[in-house]
Amino acid sequence: MPQPILISACLLGLSTRYDGRSKHNEKVLNYLRDHNLLPIPVCPEQLAGLPTPRPMTFFATGSGHDVLDNRGCVISADQTDMNAVFIKGAMETLKISRLTECTRALFKDGSPSCGVHRICRAGSRVAGQGVTTALLQRNGLQVFSEENI
Ligand code: SF4
Repeated sequence: MPQPILISACLLGLSTRYDGRSKHNEKVLNYLRDHNLLPIPVCPEQLAGLPTPRPMTFFATGSGHDVLDNRGCVISADQTDMNAVFIKGAMETLKISRLTECTRALFKDGSPSCGVHRICRAGSRVAGQGVTTALLQRNGLQVFSEENI
């Protein structure tokens, strides 16, 4: 029986990104097939109620873990504080993981929600996790990125 795994929806070819595009990734689709995994598509930013397309977002300070600890800040291109919205998206994603009994997630690296090894902060790529990745990790899920497979 296929094991369920959360997947960033954009990696599956769904047009969920801020620019209305996807990040269709053939390697991810092959990985799912080869490992007999059942993909559970999630887009934390859409789950938070954000529209698509939407303004680009990035960390002004800190990382996903810092946002959860009220020490960091995600902002949009128009300087709006997005912390509450991003935490909502992370919580909704966590709910889906529980409903579907997922213990793993394969996420799109670099995203302020889904980043696993790196994020964008104030115009630079830096090491760190997105807000949803941080919340899932704190709740015991193993999160890896398309760059790990
Ligand atoms: S929030 Fe995650 S799933 Fe949604 S578009 Fe960004 S990287 Fe993809």
